[in-house]
Amino acid sequence: MARPKNVIELLRDLVAIPSVNPHGNPGTDKTGEEAMAKYLGNFLAKLDAEVTFQHVHAGRPNVLATFEPEKKEAQHVAFAPHTDTVSVVGMTIPPFNPEIRDGKLWGRGSSDTKGPMAASLWALSEWAQSKARKKSRVRWTYAGLMGEEAGNEGAYALAKSGFKADLVVVQEPTSLEIVHAHKGVLWIAISTAGRSCHGSTPERGDNAIYKMRRILEVLETRVIPALAERSHPVLGATTLNVGTIAGGSKVNIVPDGCTVECDVRLTPATPRDAALELIAREVHAVLPEAQVAVLAECMALDTPRDLPVLRGLSDVARGYNVAPWFCDAAVFAHAGSPSVAIGPGSIAQAHTKDEFIAVADVEAGAEMFSKFITAQEELAATAAAGK
Ligand SMILES: [Zn+2]
Repeated sequence: MARPKNVIELLRDLVAIPSVNPHGNPGTDKTGEEAMAKYLGNFLAKLDAEVTFQHVHAGRPNVLATFEPEKKEAQHVAFAPHTDTVSVVGMTIPPFNPEIRDGKLWGRGSSDTKGPMAASLWALSEWAQSKARKKSRVRWTYAGLMGEEAGNEGAYALAKSGFKADLVVVQEPTSLEIVHAHKGVLWIAISTAGRSCHGSTPERGDNAIYKMRRILEVLETRVIPALAERSHPVLGATTLNVGTIAGGSKVNIVPDGCTVECDVRLTPATPRDAALELIAREVHAVLPEAQVAVLAECMALDTPRDLPVLRGLSDVARGYNVAPWFCDAAVFAHAGSPSVAIGPGSIAQAHTKDEFIAVADVEAGAEMFSKFITAQEELAATAAAGK
């Protein structure tokens, strides 16, 4: 592949490399992040970055590139886009044949998050080839993370390996606003067990669906109001929604099992363990033998807007915002590295059947990230001078 000559050519390359997360129904056999990681590694190695791969699963690595500062290191700042995309099932445009039409680039991942990735990568490559690099006091890391779309696996693997930074800038399509807070997520399954027998003699069985009715009652009348008391000034209340219910196998059989799945959205004011304890306590008060299991989770994000290390980014971004979605930033923040998410493009186009990003937005994103790198270097130089 010829080296791209501008940020849009770079984005074209990225969209043309399939990197669909294999979980669920990917809709293609071109899954996994290896080809993307290799492309990024190769691109960054040519800029004299030190490139390593962290093998999380077979064919699914994180890629890490580091630019050591020329002068004494004052700060460590990381860009952290995810390299995977969601499934291509139901897409109405070619997912991996990037096409530019009506001022937009179309394809899977163009918005989430290859557009934002191209913008930060292009900015970093411009900086790496400029004179400014000679005066650098920031250790810049570029981390391409696998597995964000199903369980934030790449971010967890990197954080667990001991990775730390003064600031981790996660790339997501945020319309160039700094997303500094979002709710956490806890998906749980609650199950009841019964004893089946013929539906003509229900007195001989034990109906698992009736037991679940009592649990649903307690969720609605006690758990949901108790969770709602724990609210956050910006993000609002902690909520619980029962999303699915499944039980029984046939109309003439007494059901021996019933399961509901609940989606709990946690504000930073509600620790995950406290929420889980509350739910388990209330459920077990009506039915001690009920099973409560965690299906998936992501922590809340609540990075203070006034952190000194964020001054460079806040000077060049389009303000602050909070998000209804969750991302890798929460993983890094909880592991001790302050983190926010930012990138060009709108989350409205993420995960859609005809995903796109406006060309002008990607270009504006690259420009903003360039200004950010300059501003951060200035911040680091000032910090170093004050030491
Ligand atoms: Zn994303």
